[in-house]
Amino acid sequence: MDTSYKTEDAVVLASGGQDSTTCLAWAKKHFNKVYAISFFYGQKHSVENDIAKEICESMDIPLKTVDISFIKDIVVSNLFDGTDDVNCGHSQNKDVPASFVPYRNLLFLTVAAGWAGTVGAKHLVTGVCETDYSGYADCRDVFVKSAQVALNMATDFKDKNVVIHTPLMWLTKSEEFRMAEELGILDLILKRTLTCYNGVQTMNDFGMGCGECPSCMLRKRGYEEFMKKYHNGDCNGK
Ligand SMILES: [Zn+2]
Repeated sequence: MDTSYKTEDAVVLASGGQDSTTCLAWAKKHFNKVYAISFFYGQKHSVENDIAKEICESMDIPLKTVDISFIKDIVVSNLFDGTDDVNCGHSQNKDVPASFVPYRNLLFLTVAAGWAGTVGAKHLVTGVCETDYSGYADCRDVFVKSAQVALNMATDFKDKNVVIHTPLMWLTKSEEFRMAEELGILDLILKRTLTCYNGVQTMNDFGMGCGECPSCMLRKRGYEEFMKKYHNGDCNGK
């Protein structure tokens, strides 16, 4: 990555999960000052806001938490507290998981871009990923690129236009674990981050989680692949 970013600041979308925590460490390496922003939106696992706060404190990154819980009254998702199973299909599109929150990432990026402008940062970093595509349209590269164009069309701030970075976009989960290891935060990822859709904080080899929801399954499989590929000596193992 271009080292000229070392003089510029970034805002990272933080959720207390594996992806965003990896992005926080990545941003600290590549940018001057790093800020974090997290969202409360009535999610089942609202404990993630507390975890994001702990992680940001441990990394010495200032965090702004924004309440957008009105979205719970506006759109349909089984990710919200008090709703049903997250493993079935979404009521608006059965091909999409019920945990999908329509327009969530567009709203997140819009609010984050506003905050970035206020603190003088022109870079946004988000941990969305298309490789382990779960049917979330707003995790796709084409969405993020379109959002960047739309945000800048909405303001025309010229040299202060926002640039959105997605360092995890084309990584598999096992490569993401490897990236965390190279950034020196593998222990933090395994012991502190919470990615589980059910917000279960039971400790496993792959980190905290219920071990059964789609997010835990992905993380578990990724960790097993990571250990096999990088720590059993087959190809790049130590
Ligand atoms: Zn889980």
